[in-house]
Amino acid sequence: MSYRGRFAPSPTGPLHAGSLVAALASWLVARAHGGVWLVRIEDVDTPRCVPGADRLILQQLAACGLHSDEPVLWQSARGAHYQRALDELAGRGRAYPCACSRKDIEAALQAQGRTRARHHAAVYPGTCRPENGGLRGRPARAWRFHLGEDTEVRWTDRRLGPQMQDVAVDVGDFVLRRADGLWAYQLAVVVDDAAQGITHVVRGEDLTDNTPRQILLQRALGLPTPAYLHTPLVRGDNGEKLSKQNGARALDLSDPLAALNQAAAVLGLPPMTGSVPDALARWAAAWPSTISAHPASSPEP
Ligand code: GLU
Repeated sequence: MSYRGRFAPSPTGPLHAGSLVAALASWLVARAHGGVWLVRIEDVDTPRCVPGADRLILQQLAACGLHSDEPVLWQSARGAHYQRALDELAGRGRAYPCACSRKDIEAALQAQGRTRARHHAAVYPGTCRPENGGLRGRPARAWRFHLGEDTEVRWTDRRLGPQMQDVAVDVGDFVLRRADGLWAYQLAVVVDDAAQGITHVVRGEDLTDNTPRQILLQRALGLPTPAYLHTPLVRGDNGEKLSKQNGARALDLSDPLAALNQAAAVLGLPPMTGSVPDALARWAAAWPSTISAHPASSPEP
């Protein structure tokens, strides 16, 4: 099987030091395997997208010597594919319309005596499941995935090691199409990883706990599960993960090699001098030993 990897930024702002780590790692692993590396712009959450950020990200990647091996895919152009997947799931009884607002969900959970930990999203109580009575005349808002019998997902991350999540306990029937009509990340990412033949997903560690949901969706759609590797996060001065939401600065690309060296250091790679293409080639050659030298068992602080 030939390696196909991808970097899939959401154009909610320019690349920052944290997102470059995921971009660089995904590119290096692809090159280390003699594989293909693709860029996919994940612009389904339109209210969060910043006009022009997609072009800017592509320019920033290019300045760092990272070019998609095939034409860049924009998720905003792929609605028909997501709809087909949703129809397929609905046809198999694995997706259903949901009328619940956030308030309805809270009320249902309270009525069941279930509280939720602060900062944790509510586990959907299954109110609109067909077997629980469905919409009962209320208008549909969102579409949800109907979890099957087997909700405990075990998988092995290539950096973090064995992982386990019971999606029924932690998440419940999750949203595939949102109440505002937008496609949910979980569905779009699964459909596109399969459509692009992605064999290896390399992305930031903040997305680790999305993986079990994606694996369940792949199983329900009869799609292969790629290998997963989640990269270390970069933390800001306040100790929080760097993100566009907490004001991470755009990469300073007046010196792309300096930006790459910073990202490489997070991956445990040595600093390089010389040209960007040379540095990339040397890091790619060093990658396999790096990954075994940074095993799963070194969790981030
Ligand atoms: N678009 C997601 C993000 O920028 C990444 C999705 C993925 O790599 O699966 O956080």
